[in-house]
Amino acid sequence: MKRYDNFGKYEVAIRKILPKVCQTYLNNTPYDLQSILHSIRIERFPEIPDSFEVSFVRGSTLAFINKPYRIIYLHDLLNHPQTPLDVFKFIFTHELVHMIVPHENIDGKEVSHPPKFWDLMKERSPEKDGSWVWISLTFMWCVKIDYKKECVFVKKNWKKFMTDDRQPISFFLDMIDKCSHGESIL
Ligand SMILES: [Zn+2]
Repeated sequence: MKRYDNFGKYEVAIRKILPKVCQTYLNNTPYDLQSILHSIRIERFPEIPDSFEVSFVRGSTLAFINKPYRIIYLHDLLNHPQTPLDVFKFIFTHELVHMIVPHENIDGKEVSHPPKFWDLMKERSPEKDGSWVWISLTFMWCVKIDYKKECVFVKKNWKKFMTDDRQPISFFLDMIDKCSHGESIL
Protein backbone atom coordinates (compact mmCIF):
# COMPACT_ATOMS: atom_id res chain seq x y z
CA MET A 1 0.00 0.00 0.00
CA LYS A 2 1.29 3.43 -0.91
CA ARG A 3 1.98 5.87 1.92
CA TYR A 4 -0.68 8.30 0.68
CA ASP A 5 -3.53 5.78 0.47
CA ASN A 6 -4.48 6.58 4.05
CA PHE A 7 -4.87 10.32 3.53
CA GLY A 8 -8.56 10.06 2.62
CA LYS A 9 -9.58 9.02 6.10
CA TYR A 10 -8.05 12.19 7.57
CA GLU A 11 -9.76 14.50 5.13
CA VAL A 12 -13.02 14.91 7.09
CA ALA A 13 -11.12 15.64 10.30
CA ILE A 14 -8.81 18.10 8.57
CA ARG A 15 -11.72 20.01 7.05
CA LYS A 16 -13.30 20.24 10.51
CA ILE A 17 -10.26 21.72 12.25
CA LEU A 18 -9.05 23.87 9.35
CA PRO A 19 -11.27 26.93 9.98
CA LYS A 20 -10.20 26.96 13.65
CA VAL A 21 -6.52 26.74 12.80
CA CYS A 22 -6.63 29.26 9.98
CA GLN A 23 -9.14 31.80 11.23
CA THR A 24 -7.49 35.08 12.13
CA TYR A 25 -8.91 37.79 14.36
CA LEU A 26 -8.89 41.57 13.97
CA ASN A 27 -6.43 43.44 16.15
CA ASN A 28 -8.22 44.76 19.29
CA THR A 29 -5.11 46.33 20.75
CA PRO A 30 -4.29 50.03 20.36
CA TYR A 31 -0.96 49.13 18.75
CA ASP A 32 0.17 48.73 15.19
CA LEU A 33 1.70 45.33 15.92
CA GLN A 34 3.03 44.89 12.41
CA SER A 35 5.17 48.05 12.75
CA ILE A 36 6.26 47.09 16.25
CA LEU A 37 7.38 43.68 15.04
CA HIS A 38 9.22 45.36 12.18
CA SER A 39 11.08 47.74 14.55
CA ILE A 40 11.96 44.92 16.96
CA ARG A 41 13.48 42.91 14.12
CA ILE A 42 15.44 45.86 12.71
CA GLU A 43 16.69 47.13 16.09
CA ARG A 44 17.29 43.86 17.93
CA PHE A 45 17.99 41.35 15.14
CA PRO A 46 20.27 42.87 12.51
CA GLU A 47 21.18 39.31 11.45
CA ILE A 48 17.61 38.57 10.31
CA PRO A 49 17.09 40.16 6.88
CA ASP A 50 13.50 39.06 6.16
CA SER A 51 10.34 40.72 7.37
CA PHE A 52 7.66 38.88 9.34
CA GLU A 53 3.93 39.11 9.66
CA VAL A 54 1.85 38.88 12.81
CA SER A 55 -1.61 37.44 13.20
CA PHE A 56 -4.07 36.59 16.00
CA VAL A 57 -5.40 33.02 16.00
CA ARG A 58 -6.89 30.55 18.47
CA GLY A 59 -4.22 27.88 18.46
CA SER A 60 -3.15 25.74 21.38
CA THR A 61 -0.16 27.83 22.52
CA LEU A 62 0.24 31.46 23.56
CA ALA A 63 2.36 32.19 20.51
CA PHE A 64 4.38 30.41 17.87
CA ILE A 65 6.44 31.17 14.82
CA ASN A 66 5.97 29.65 11.42
CA LYS A 67 9.56 29.87 10.21
CA PRO A 68 9.13 29.01 6.50
CA TYR A 69 6.20 31.43 6.06
CA ARG A 70 7.71 34.03 8.42
CA ILE A 71 4.54 34.56 10.44
CA ILE A 72 4.25 35.02 14.19
CA TYR A 73 0.91 33.77 15.47
CA LEU A 74 -0.39 35.24 18.72
CA HIS A 75 -3.23 33.61 20.62
CA ASP A 76 -6.46 35.61 20.68
CA LEU A 77 -6.12 35.63 24.49
CA LEU A 78 -3.54 38.41 24.03
CA ASN A 79 -5.84 40.38 21.74
CA HIS A 80 -7.07 42.94 24.26
CA PRO A 81 -6.75 46.76 24.54
CA GLN A 82 -5.06 46.46 27.94
CA THR A 83 -2.43 43.88 27.06
CA PRO A 84 0.77 45.89 27.69
CA LEU A 85 2.95 46.81 24.74
CA ASP A 86 5.97 45.32 26.53
CA VAL A 87 4.29 41.90 26.49
CA PHE A 88 4.09 42.01 22.68
CA LYS A 89 7.70 43.19 22.45
CA PHE A 90 8.76 40.32 24.70
CA ILE A 91 6.86 37.72 22.66
CA PHE A 92 8.13 39.06 19.33
CA THR A 93 11.69 38.96 20.65
CA HIS A 94 11.20 35.43 21.96
CA GLU A 95 9.88 34.18 18.62
CA LEU A 96 12.64 35.92 16.66
CA VAL A 97 15.32 34.39 18.90
CA HIS A 98 13.94 31.05 17.70
CA MET A 99 15.03 32.10 14.20
CA ILE A 100 18.68 32.31 15.21
CA VAL A 101 19.02 29.64 17.91
CA PRO A 102 18.41 26.11 16.61
CA HIS A 103 17.11 23.24 18.71
CA GLU A 104 19.83 21.43 20.60
CA ASN A 105 20.21 17.88 21.71
CA ILE A 106 21.06 17.98 25.40
CA ASP A 107 21.57 14.65 27.20
CA GLY A 108 19.62 12.86 24.48
CA LYS A 109 16.68 15.26 24.65
CA GLU A 110 15.67 17.67 21.91
CA VAL A 111 15.55 21.11 23.55
CA SER A 112 13.94 24.06 21.78
CA HIS A 113 15.08 26.62 24.38
CA PRO A 114 18.74 25.70 25.08
CA PRO A 115 20.89 27.89 27.39
CA LYS A 116 22.02 29.99 24.42
CA PHE A 117 18.37 30.88 23.80
CA TRP A 118 17.95 32.31 27.32
CA ASP A 119 21.30 34.15 27.10
CA LEU A 120 20.08 35.92 23.97
CA MET A 121 16.70 36.70 25.54
CA LYS A 122 18.48 38.33 28.45
CA GLU A 123 20.57 40.36 26.05
CA ARG A 124 17.80 41.45 23.66
CA SER A 125 14.61 41.65 25.69
CA PRO A 126 14.84 44.31 28.43
CA GLU A 127 11.11 43.82 29.13
CA LYS A 128 11.51 40.06 29.68
CA ASP A 129 11.08 39.81 33.47
CA GLY A 130 8.14 42.19 33.87
CA SER A 131 6.33 40.71 30.88
CA TRP A 132 6.74 37.17 32.12
CA VAL A 133 5.36 38.19 35.54
CA TRP A 134 2.40 39.84 33.80
CA ILE A 135 1.69 36.78 31.61
CA SER A 136 1.99 34.32 34.50
CA LEU A 137 -0.31 36.29 36.82
CA THR A 138 -2.85 37.68 34.33
CA PHE A 139 -3.32 34.34 32.61
CA MET A 140 -2.86 32.25 35.75
CA TRP A 141 -6.15 30.38 35.24
CA CYS A 142 -6.16 30.27 31.45
CA VAL A 143 -2.80 28.80 30.58
CA LYS A 144 -0.84 25.73 31.47
CA ILE A 145 2.91 26.16 31.54
CA ASP A 146 4.35 22.84 30.42
CA TYR A 147 8.04 22.92 31.34
CA LYS A 148 8.67 19.45 29.91
CA LYS A 149 7.31 20.36 26.48
CA GLU A 150 8.67 23.92 26.82
CA CYS A 151 5.28 25.39 25.89
CA VAL A 152 2.64 27.71 27.30
CA PHE A 153 -0.65 26.03 26.40
CA VAL A 154 -3.89 28.02 26.39
CA LYS A 155 -6.89 26.20 27.84
CA LYS A 156 -9.80 25.79 25.44
CA ASN A 157 -12.18 27.48 27.90
CA TRP A 158 -9.84 30.44 28.59
CA LYS A 159 -12.62 33.03 28.10
CA LYS A 160 -14.38 31.73 31.20
CA PHE A 161 -11.44 32.77 33.36
CA MET A 162 -10.76 36.24 32.01
CA THR A 163 -12.26 39.42 33.43
CA ASP A 164 -12.69 42.52 31.27
CA ASP A 165 -9.97 44.48 33.02
CA ARG A 166 -6.25 43.79 32.80
CA GLN A 167 -3.72 45.41 35.13
CA PRO A 168 -0.54 47.12 33.98
CA ILE A 169 2.81 45.38 34.54
CA SER A 170 3.71 47.93 37.26
CA PHE A 171 0.71 46.75 39.33
CA PHE A 172 2.21 43.26 39.69
CA LEU A 173 5.76 44.50 40.16
CA ASP A 174 4.60 46.79 43.01
CA MET A 175 2.74 43.85 44.56
CA ILE A 176 5.85 41.65 44.36
CA ASP A 177 7.93 44.45 45.83
CA LYS A 178 5.55 44.81 48.78
CA CYS A 179 5.46 41.05 49.37
CA SER A 180 9.23 40.79 49.28
CA HIS A 181 9.44 43.52 51.94
CA GLY A 182 7.04 41.61 54.16
CA GLU A 183 4.14 44.03 53.62
CA SER A 184 0.57 42.79 53.37
CA ILE A 185 -0.95 43.36 49.94
CA LEU A 186 -4.56 43.09 51.11
ZN1 LIG B 1 9.85 29.48 22.50
